Amino acid sequence: MKEKLNEPIGAEEIISILKTEDKKTLDDLADLASKIRAKFLGRQVCIHGIVEFSSFCRRNCLYCGLRRDNGGLSRYRLEPDNIAETAIMAVKKLGYKMLVLQSGEDLYYSTDKIVYILKKIFNVCRPLIFLSIGESDFVSYGKFFAAGARGVLFRFETSSKKLYEKMHPGASFEERINHLKFFKELGYIIATGPLIGLPGQSLESHAADLILIRELGVHMVSMGPFIPSFQTPLSDYKSVSPFFMRKIIIAARLALPALRLPITTAMEYLWGDNFRRLALCSGANSFMLNLTPTEVRDAYDIYPDKNKLTNHLHSEKAIFKIKKIVKECGLEVCRGFGKDFEQALSGLADSCGMER
Ligand code: SAH
Ligand code: SF4
Repeated sequence: MKEKLNEPIGAEEIISILKTEDKKTLDDLADLASKIRAKFLGRQVCIHGIVEFSSFCRRNCLYCGLRRDNGGLSRYRLEPDNIAETAIMAVKKLGYKMLVLQSGEDLYYSTDKIVYILKKIFNVCRPLIFLSIGESDFVSYGKFFAAGARGVLFRFETSSKKLYEKMHPGASFEERINHLKFFKELGYIIATGPLIGLPGQSLESHAADLILIRELGVHMVSMGPFIPSFQTPLSDYKSVSPFFMRKIIIAARLALPALRLPITTAMEYLWGDNFRRLALCSGANSFMLNLTPTEVRDAYDIYPDKNKLTNHLHSEKAIFKIKKIVKECGLEVCRGFGKDFEQALSGLADSCGMER
């Protein structure tokens, strides 16, 4: 594998990493992944904040606690002004530069309402905003871009059309991929990837997921372990082990050397700080921290009791803790958007006056 330092690995090598059971071999691969990250992305680790603003959803994804048919969930919506204020607080008080605004597919938020939220934020500050609000039309996403949004977080969930359509009743895999294509056409920075551990996935399909990320030509990987959620058709299935997730992270870094690779909230939910350290030393290079206002946070139940570990996370103390972990791993916290995103934004950034 060593000779591969200069060349991204392909499906066969990904599968061979995912089959590795020997800890020493894996540690060596993690070192290689760290070297590759250093070569392509330096020592900087970026912190993204996420605001979950509505738990209403019109879709019925089999794995998700927010699915339409989950009648046992008490749902919430933040009002547009409240969403904007939360984002502004995160930028002004906590120093965030990059924020994800996430929700179920909730038609309460019309295109105009989302544009209103974006404009209200940009009247006060200029963070890099990612929208993670699911499927909508090209024209609406064009309006969000015109209003200043520059990123989308939109997972394809699995590269297997058959499995995708089984997990998403009534939805089309082509339509999902088509969105990623039109986001690109509009000029968005794109974060995408799979869920890891859906029933029906295989080593081959995991490899195909990473290859698809490469083929799509996106900027950031977004993947996380499936977590069984109450009152969903998949509630009896289990999550993958942290050992397996670490292998996927290593394989992702070797297959996608220059992409931003965050430690996502589901990883932290399942495995806490130890996994954060491990992932950071295995090729990951950013964090996703929860900024949802505490009074509604428990109701954003994508998976059960999701906020048991993250309740404190919007505090300054949480950022302090992350900085400590980053330092322990010999890395440093990035104060701006990160070199990779700066590059992607160049030309655009000036026109929209982003703060760096
Ligand atoms: N509705 C939007 C964004 C919110 S859902 C969308 O679906 O694109 C954000 C992500 O949560 C999904 O992409 C999915 O990968 C993840 N998710 C949903 N249910 C999950 C579960 N049970 N375990 C882990 N992640 C889950
Ligand atoms: Fe809705 Fe997203 Fe959950 Fe699917 S994954 S049910 S679209 S919130």
